[in-house]
Amino acid sequence: MRIVRVERTIRRFMSSLNGMNGSHGGRFPVRRDWTLDEVRRVYSQNLLELMYQGATAHRENFNPQEVQKCTLLSIKTGGCPEDCKYCSQSSKYKTSVKAEVLMQVDDVLAQAKKAKDAGSTRFCMGAAWRGASQVGPRQFQRVLDMVTGVREMGLEVCATLGLVNAEQARMLKEAGLTAYNHNLDTSREFYPKVITTRNYDDRLQTLQNVRDAGLSVCCGGIIGLGESHQDRVSMIHTLATLPNHPESVPVNALVVNEGTPLEGTKPLPVWDLCRMIATARIIMPASMVRLSAGRVSLSPSEQALCFFAGANSIFTGDKLLTTPNSDMDEDKVLFETLGIRGKPPVFAEEEHANDGVGTQPFSAEEEHGNDKVAAQPFFAEEEYVKQNVAAR
Ligand code: SF4
Repeated sequence: MRIVRVERTIRRFMSSLNGMNGSHGGRFPVRRDWTLDEVRRVYSQNLLELMYQGATAHRENFNPQEVQKCTLLSIKTGGCPEDCKYCSQSSKYKTSVKAEVLMQVDDVLAQAKKAKDAGSTRFCMGAAWRGASQVGPRQFQRVLDMVTGVREMGLEVCATLGLVNAEQARMLKEAGLTAYNHNLDTSREFYPKVITTRNYDDRLQTLQNVRDAGLSVCCGGIIGLGESHQDRVSMIHTLATLPNHPESVPVNALVVNEGTPLEGTKPLPVWDLCRMIATARIIMPASMVRLSAGRVSLSPSEQALCFFAGANSIFTGDKLLTTPNSDMDEDKVLFETLGIRGKPPVFAEEEHANDGVGTQPFSAEEEHGNDKVAAQPFFAEEEYVKQNVAAR
């Protein structure tokens, strides 16, 4: 403990030296008292300045040469009773996705092994359900067996199973789950325009149940749904003012699916993705920021911009649930070109998921985890701030 304190003091001293040298060392503490206006000002900055700050916050909290590789498998595809307007798995829409039954444990474990052999350190399993209560105890037990089996392979295990109650979250934790994904998707204000079969508070309650069970929280959203910049700011503000920041924040760009109400929606420019990633990185500096759906449509250069802006996690594998994803060989070339490598799994994260500190398994936690909420906003570049967040 004493050694940790000494190390922390040395790092803070070095950080202050960095500041004197004109860098921004130590400017990005973990805060949970962000105001909406502060988030808006960060988000609205000159894009180059914003990305520079995102890159700096990234370097203060993580090794920028490491990018976490996660593989996402759909363990139960299609036939979902929810009406998420972007989703090809909703039974409300006529899409090419056919409803399937829950996979068998052995088949899932075979996929997990394949992912591990390809360099993934986190294996995520998604089921197209309203929630775990939609299925009977036998099917839920099968999911628990999958979790245990994947964990025994030495992988971090994540699941996204829709709404879970406190007991289900506890059972998942006991089975060996590392993290639970449950995205807010968008702002509270825009949410009813995207989903009507459950509400924002249902989402937040599941996040609380997951957190109370001691699981890491993976929670982010999707841009390109027709939301305004203000909605994006509002969603980040909600995430950043949760009792603890999510350990992972996926930033998805809409992948347009034929047959859904959002069919025909124009794709976003990469700059929107960079702006969102950098803002998430600055506002939640010790969280993993995951470049998620939509990556397949980005060129290697555009992906590099996203990494520079602060993304340090990706999904690998041919598919993200049912949507196409970047080819694993292309990712290998990209990693070699950029000089980045896969981040090893960190199981210590579970020890911190419910400690009230709010974040990370990383050394950054020692640096920032117990910091008191900063009294001052850190951004001094207000001359760059463009108040361009007016609703579209
Ligand atoms: S996003 Fe999830 S909850 Fe929504 S329709 Fe698709 S599978 Fe169902």
